[in-house]
Amino acid sequence: MNIENIISSLEAKHPGEKEYIQAVREVLLTIEDVYNQHPEFEKAKILERIVEPDRIFTFKVPWVDDKGEIQINLGYRIQFNNAIGPYKGGLRFHSTVTPSILKFLGFEQTFKNALTTLPMGGAKGGSDFDPHGKSDTEVMHFCQAFMLELWRNIGSKTDVPAGDIGVGGREIGYMYGMYKKLARENAGVLTGKDMEIGGSLIRPEATGFGGLYFVKQMLETAGETIKGKTIALSGFGNVAWGAALKANEMGAKVVTISGSKGYVYDENGISGEKIEYMLEMRSKGISLAEFAEKYGAKYFHGEKPWGVKVDIALPGATQNELDGEDAAKLIKNGVICVAELSNMGCTPEAIDLFIENKILYGPGKAANAGGVATSGLEMTQNAMHLSWTEAEVDAKLKQIMSDIHCQCVKYGTGPDGYINYMKGANVAGFLKVAKAMLIQGVI
Ligand code: NDP
Repeated sequence: MNIENIISSLEAKHPGEKEYIQAVREVLLTIEDVYNQHPEFEKAKILERIVEPDRIFTFKVPWVDDKGEIQINLGYRIQFNNAIGPYKGGLRFHSTVTPSILKFLGFEQTFKNALTTLPMGGAKGGSDFDPHGKSDTEVMHFCQAFMLELWRNIGSKTDVPAGDIGVGGREIGYMYGMYKKLARENAGVLTGKDMEIGGSLIRPEATGFGGLYFVKQMLETAGETIKGKTIALSGFGNVAWGAALKANEMGAKVVTISGSKGYVYDENGISGEKIEYMLEMRSKGISLAEFAEKYGAKYFHGEKPWGVKVDIALPGATQNELDGEDAAKLIKNGVICVAELSNMGCTPEAIDLFIENKILYGPGKAANAGGVATSGLEMTQNAMHLSWTEAEVDAKLKQIMSDIHCQCVKYGTGPDGYINYMKGANVAGFLKVAKAMLIQGVI
């Protein structure tokens, strides 16, 4: 395999798409040895095929705001790879959404979904529309206009979108309503639905819960426990909320949350009522500074939480939110475990530092796979026309996270016993998708 040739040919076809190239490079560097042991992969040009999305839909989304003015956004759906199941992956509504961001997310999603052990291919989509500061009616108008264009390209057996940044139960509800009206079917084409319309218990909490199950296993495998540990968490959205809940339940202390403008440090720990308040903040547009004031915590404007001395760091906001400098600070302060709840939360420089220093580092495609896994369980419940109890879904989620951990250990353990979770996750995910592609011929 010649990694640089593959990367430069990809760069020529997708100029300037740095996040996409970053995600591809990370995977290629870690699977090189395994790939070279399989000449049949090279012959079938598996790598050249796996790095390109199957197809991309780009569309205009015109809608009318509360003042009666016409707004125009761009919408996308990237169907990346369906070798092991229907396309599956979230929709992101945020002003920073570009084809590069969605391609990196779709690429990552392909391997993450393979790790879950469920039959799901990879996809991602979204829009540069930002729901922040919009009224409910405006969000509804946008979601309906978005679905008016997207609905022909998705389906419960072809492509099943879910939520991501800026897309929660409210947005999913509006899109699902419009899809049903257009398609005249009720087969659960979106996941992350509210319970009243066919959602699954635990889905809102699943990414955070799954992340903490994974972290607990990482620590236990290294002879540590999670109880009593301090955690720096970033973000204060859906994922951070679920993570804070489970971390507290496991006896750890969450001392930070953050947003794009700054972070909150709460030495007493973010627990109980404060976690529920995070939900209210999102829906009512309450700022982190107001959170700090209400609970007697400290707010640091324009700063990231990675300078705080903690045992565990959990990036839970967005890509590349923890860089080399942040990693150096965390290591200096004695961090023992870093797990990405956000997708590609750490830069390559940060990851290199964690691995060099033998810090337990859990990559997003393993650590945050609990969200899509539970979406897969929602699809199963919809297909069977039944609803599992909270305990049933949680038990399945725990089992899936444990299976992912086992796969990482199997493929990532080095001669000195250090587990390179990034390598383990990439190799396990890649092998599954590559073998599935090989079996199905050149399509
Ligand atoms: P939400 O929209 O609920 O919350 C996003 C959080 O990230 C907010 O606190 C937001 O703060 C912060 N944020 C967004 N953009 C930036 C930025 N550019 N810089 C700093 N902070 C930022 O999203 P989720 O909680 O659902 O998603 C968080 C991460 O988890 C994303 O990376 C997503 O891809 C990943 N993920 C989500 C899953 C899910 O099930 N939802 C599944 C797997 C991964 P502010 O409002 O101040 O911008």
